[in-house]
Amino acid sequence: MNNRQSTLSKTALVSQIINFSCVDGPGSRLVIFLQGCNYNCKNCHNPHTIDMCDSCGDCITHCPTQALSMTSIGGKDAIRWDSDLCSECDTCLSVCPRQSTPKTREYSVAQMLEVIQQHGSFISGITISGGEATLQLHFIKALFKAIKSSEELQHLSCMIDSNGSLNETGWQKLLPYIDGAMIDLKSWQQETHRYITGRDNHKVFRSLNLLSQHNKLYEVRLLQIPGVTDFESEIDALASFLTRLPSSTRIKLNAFQHHGVTGEALAWQTCSEDNIERLASQLTERGVKPLILPSVYI
Ligand code: SF4
Ligand code: SF4
Repeated sequence: MNNRQSTLSKTALVSQIINFSCVDGPGSRLVIFLQGCNYNCKNCHNPHTIDMCDSCGDCITHCPTQALSMTSIGGKDAIRWDSDLCSECDTCLSVCPRQSTPKTREYSVAQMLEVIQQHGSFISGITISGGEATLQLHFIKALFKAIKSSEELQHLSCMIDSNGSLNETGWQKLLPYIDGAMIDLKSWQQETHRYITGRDNHKVFRSLNLLSQHNKLYEVRLLQIPGVTDFESEIDALASFLTRLPSSTRIKLNAFQHHGVTGEALAWQTCSEDNIERLASQLTERGVKPLILPSVYI
């Protein structure tokens, strides 16, 4: 297999593709959501994208449209999802003991390029999100490399939406092929970050610094959860850090809502417009800009 064939044959497990989005990076974008995450955020809006399906088969008989069946791939059981039969009722998600989903599809880079080619003239770029996108690093690198070397597609910007947990070696592999990254900073203090996500945030700060040094930090996202996140109690340290980032980096404030969340986060207070505006004015007073505020609070 030559280099090009090797690039085109890399695969990723994809949970969703949105053909057009204007909130996942600059301009109009095709967004690819990859399955699987290394965080276990209590506030996750798509908790079924965290774990991988283990093909137990429990969801098959619950599907009202017979869209699910068991098949065999390489001698191993594998769940088969027929998207043409699926009514998107989400019963399979509610019965899955792993809180996973059978509604995923493996794409090779070659197959994904075909999808992108169908929409290439209507969009300005591609964003890979998740789950945690960077867990499928080889696919991202191969796809973006193929886009950058394609006469037909090289006008598309290539962005990553990430929780920032990738190590430096991983980012070094991606840096030549990405135009920017959107990174979540889920809290300032380690304890708060561990409480929300199950992991500490040392790597997130390292990622933010590395990406900003290479001028690839498009956006930092702060999700305000009243009484849970610590952005207001740590406002001086937070603002001092944010003002040292490149002036082109957008600081986006998001307001926690209950949509899609499960478990104890359903009892957490949602974030109001007043709450976001208070945080925004505290950051502005300390020189943080440009700030992007939510357009809706539902
Ligand atoms: S979402 Fe689709 S696959 Fe899942 S149970 Fe409903 S119809 Fe079946
Ligand atoms: S989606 Fe869940 S219930 Fe269905 S086969 Fe996979 S692990 Fe089992």
